[in-house]
Amino acid sequence: MDGNRQEFYRRQLNNKLQDLTTKIADRLTELVRDPEEKAIDLYDLCTQTYSKEQLYLSCHRDRETVLSIQIALEKLKNGEYGICDECEQVINEKRLRALPWVRLCLGCQRKREVGSVAA
Ligand SMILES: [Zn+2]
Repeated sequence: MDGNRQEFYRRQLNNKLQDLTTKIADRLTELVRDPEEKAIDLYDLCTQTYSKEQLYLSCHRDRETVLSIQIALEKLKNGEYGICDECEQVINEKRLRALPWVRLCLGCQRKREVGSVAA
């Protein structure tokens, strides 16, 4: 992968990382905040539809993504970015563009999903 593309993915990853970090911080505030104190604005109207449990779950999911992004950034540094964790083949560029932090190629992802359903 050439330098320009690496730079492109690095930017994507950093943007997403910042986005998620802000989102997680907001949600955590939401979790501890007394509902009486809520100021009603557009953002609150959206988050009000979440129960605490759902908030927790989506936080958890975002944290997994944050972890994957950090791993992807690390791989970019080591020149291992875009390589499947499982089969070590190059991950399809379209897939990387959609999910720059993805760690498995489509084939391995499918295999893993099938495996987890069976287990
Ligand atoms: Zn693979």
